[in-house]
Amino acid sequence: AKEDVHRRIKVFEPMMLYSRQLRRETARELRRAVLDEELFLEYQPVVDLESGRLQGVEALVRWNHPRRGVVMPDDFIPLAEETGLIVGIGRWVMRAALEQLERWRPLLASEEDFLLRVNLAALELQSLDLVDFVRDSLRATGTKPGELVLEITESALLSGGDVETYSLRSLQALGVGLEIDDFGTGYSSISYLRRLPVDTVKVDRSLIADIAGDDGQLRFVDAVHNLIRAAGLEAVFEGIETAEQAEQLRKMGCCSGQGYYFSRPIPASQITVLLQEGRTL
Ligand code: C2E
Ligand code: CA
Ligand code: CA
Ligand code: CA
Repeated sequence: AKEDVHRRIKVFEPMMLYSRQLRRETARELRRAVLDEELFLEYQPVVDLESGRLQGVEALVRWNHPRRGVVMPDDFIPLAEETGLIVGIGRWVMRAALEQLERWRPLLASEEDFLLRVNLAALELQSLDLVDFVRDSLRATGTKPGELVLEITESALLSGGDVETYSLRSLQALGVGLEIDDFGTGYSSISYLRRLPVDTVKVDRSLIADIAGDDGQLRFVDAVHNLIRAAGLEAVFEGIETAEQAEQLRKMGCCSGQGYYFSRPIPASQITVLLQEGRTL
């Protein structure tokens, strides 16, 4: 057995070194990526489930790596969070998305009728000058605070430190929308639904995956939806992949959703076309 352990260590060591080296290299490349403008955004439509009308978009970051091609966020956001690079990346995302919203402005009928959703990592919420940065960015682009919704995961919201609490309250006072992201994946303590300064809840796709074929799950999701509304919040359902799922949610009285059934994340130019062609999916 002892020999086995040694053999395993021998096999493992070079791989671990390699991966540590690879991570270091990737972190270095990621630092450069922001400066070299290798990051870009796609936008996924959020629609009114009843009418199919485009209510807004969620900005999602991608990395156009010079050798590896397009790298998806699940493959670099965790590293960006560990290394702190997420703060710079998050600021680039916020600025780029707000600037894009202003490019869409002439196509938008009325103010605050189109919502831009941007993801916010836990580390960004801990940064002392987040609120100033958001305020300055809104001012610089001429965007109304109510047109921006920040999506924050449960775990980031529930960490409950002083800086986080200050940031959340200040962002709310500023008029920015706050949303719980991935609801139903963490240790969701439902009492927080009423206490956190949030306006909307994005229900994770894992909850609705089976609703078309599983009556129990359907009743459960209906109850979750009622719970969110009882807390005075609005629900957005993500990961809608089929017409059946959309139909069940519609029957439940759910208004907003996003997912591959309506549209994958797409380039800004395709959102422009949707806005030009009547905003209906
Ligand atoms: P998320 O915030 O939960 O974003 C939704 C993810 O689900 C996106 O993946 C989207 O493409 C995918 N998705 C949308 N509809 C469907 C569907 O019907 N079925 C399935 N299976 N998936 C669907 P994406 O773009 O790869 O992003 C993954 C995660 O990376 C995001 O999850 C978010 O946590 C993070 N992320 C993306 N952009 C940013 C960013 O700018 N800042 C931060 N902090 N995190 C980001
Ligand atoms: Ca999100
Ligand atoms: Ca989510
Ligand atoms: Ca997620």
